[in-house]
Amino acid sequence: MKKVVLLVILNIVLLIEAAGLAVVFVYNESMIRDEAELQAAQELAEEARAKQEADKAISKCAAESMAAAYTAYENRYPVQTEEGAHRGISILMYHTVYDPLNPPNVRIDNNFISTVNLEEQLKYLTDEGYSFPTWEEVRLYIDGEIDLPEKSVVLTFDDGTDGFRKNGVPLLNKYKVPATAFIIVSRNGKRWAAHKKDYPYLDLESHSYDMHRPGGRVGHGGIMTVLPYEAIYDDLKQSQEILGNSNAFAYPFGDVDNYGQCRDAVEGAGFLCAVTTKYGKVYPGADPFLLPRMRVIGRNSLAAFITLL
Ligand SMILES: [Zn+2]
Repeated sequence: MKKVVLLVILNIVLLIEAAGLAVVFVYNESMIRDEAELQAAQELAEEARAKQEADKAISKCAAESMAAAYTAYENRYPVQTEEGAHRGISILMYHTVYDPLNPPNVRIDNNFISTVNLEEQLKYLTDEGYSFPTWEEVRLYIDGEIDLPEKSVVLTFDDGTDGFRKNGVPLLNKYKVPATAFIIVSRNGKRWAAHKKDYPYLDLESHSYDMHRPGGRVGHGGIMTVLPYEAIYDDLKQSQEILGNSNAFAYPFGDVDNYGQCRDAVEGAGFLCAVTTKYGKVYPGADPFLLPRMRVIGRNSLAAFITLL
C-alpha cells in the first residue's frame, strides 16, 4: 500500500515535472521564435533605415547637383530680356572659298569668297570676342527662353564644295571658329562624314540627300517644292543618317512651297531649325523652320561685313 502511494506520488511528481518541462519547453520555443522574429524584424528595420538614409543622401545629392546645373545654366544663358530679344542674331550664309593665288577655272560670282577676305573676317570675329552659338542655343533664343551673348553670330557654308573643304576648313581650324556646313549628301556626304576628325569646328548638317536639283516651279525652281511629303521626309531621314546630325537643315536654293509642306516635313523629320536664303536677322518668335540668313558677298569690304553682324 505504501508502495502504491509512493508510486502515485512519484507519478504525480513526474507529471508535474513533465508539465513543467513542457511549459518551459513551450515557453523557450516561443522565446526562441520571438527572438528570431524580433532579430529579423530589427534587421529589416535597420535595413530600411539604412536605405532611407541612402535615399535621402541620393536625393540630397541629386537636388544639389540639379541646383548646381540650373545655376550654371542660368549663369551661362541669362533669361531673355527685352533688349536681348530686340538685338536679334545673324546667321551668315557663305558658299565656297577660293585661293586668289590659285583661282578656280570658273567665274568668281557672289558664291565665292577669297581666303584673304574670309581670314580677315574670322580674325575680326575672334579679336572682337564673338560667340558662335549652337543650333540648340539658337532655338532656345527663338523660343524666348534665353539671351545669347551680345556679340553672337552663326556661320553657315552651303553645298559642301571642294573649295570650301580645301580653302575654308583650314581657316576655321586655324581660328577655332565653329561653323555649319550644309552638305548635299548624295554628292559627297559619306566622304565628309568619314573625315569628321579633320574639321573639329564643323557641324555637318543636311542640305538634303538628293533634292538639290531642278524640277520645281517656285523660287529658284528646286524640286523639293513639288515632291510629296513622304518623299521629302524619306530624303531628309536618309541625309540625317549619313551625316549623323539633325540640328539644322538648309532648303536647297532656299526654296519652300507656299503651302508649308516643305517646312512641315523638315519639322516632322526632327530637325531643330531650318534656314532659307531670305534676307534678315533672326528674332525670338520667328518660325524656327523658316529662318532668314544674311548673305556674305565675298568681294565686299570688312566694313560691309561688319554691318551684317
Ligand atoms: Zn545650295
